[in-house]
Amino acid sequence: MPSKKSLPQPQSLDLPFTGADSHAHLDDPALLPDLPEVFSRAAGSGVSLIVHMFLLHDRYAANRQALLDAAAGCPRPVDLCFARGLHPEDILHADEEEWERLAWAAEHDPKVCAVGEIGLDYHYEEGYSPHAMQEPWFRRQLRLAKKLGKPVVIHSRDAWERTFAILDEEGMRGWPLLWHCFGGSAGHAERIIACGWHIALGGAATYKANQSVREAVRSIPLDKLMLETDCPYLAPMPWRGRRNEPALTAFTAACLAGELGMDPAELWTAAGDNARRFFGV
Ligand SMILES: [Zn+2]
Repeated sequence: MPSKKSLPQPQSLDLPFTGADSHAHLDDPALLPDLPEVFSRAAGSGVSLIVHMFLLHDRYAANRQALLDAAAGCPRPVDLCFARGLHPEDILHADEEEWERLAWAAEHDPKVCAVGEIGLDYHYEEGYSPHAMQEPWFRRQLRLAKKLGKPVVIHSRDAWERTFAILDEEGMRGWPLLWHCFGGSAGHAERIIACGWHIALGGAATYKANQSVREAVRSIPLDKLMLETDCPYLAPMPWRGRRNEPALTAFTAACLAGELGMDPAELWTAAGDNARRFFGV
């Protein structure tokens, strides 16, 4: 971690070893060379479970064992499980071979506990991740999750209504579903909760401009809330702009607990318990 001296460390928040980072990209080149330290800082900051998103097959095949080794080698072992999915931004890599491999891992790898992150991303114009290509793959993966009885992790950016419509059409109400990187209003949160789904908040919820997201937290029952990093991106305050990693989830917990007038340790443990229950760890 750069600039160690100048920023408060997550260990200083002194949270119990009950938390979870429900959404990490540990195989990103920014984190991969540093996994033993990343895991030991996570454990030292109270993160007892990390849910890693495995996206394209090549990255899964290349890094699965390294991640498991790093988790097991941590002085205080951190639970690690995977989600496996085709991200809408990877849609140009989608073909039948990729599908076969994804479906195989989702069904047969005991460490794969969810299908994700999947959904719609309309942030970029057509060309980089053509919108029309995203939808059939999103539906196909939702059907796979239902067939296998696995929970789903949703990625939806600039595509709120369309995502909702597809989830409705695919009969996902009441299914164990986690809306990752929530950035909406209280109204959005209420709509998600009404469907019986969970909501995960990350570092962006701590940014000054995102007051409406912090207010939306009041609309999320404590048994439906999770915390995440989406690392290596979107580090919470006061680490914003630096590399994100699971240990920093602690700052998001502290910020949201402040907003709710709650004990940070209580929110931390509740969100960690929710992740364990949801992912079946
Ligand atoms: Zn992600």
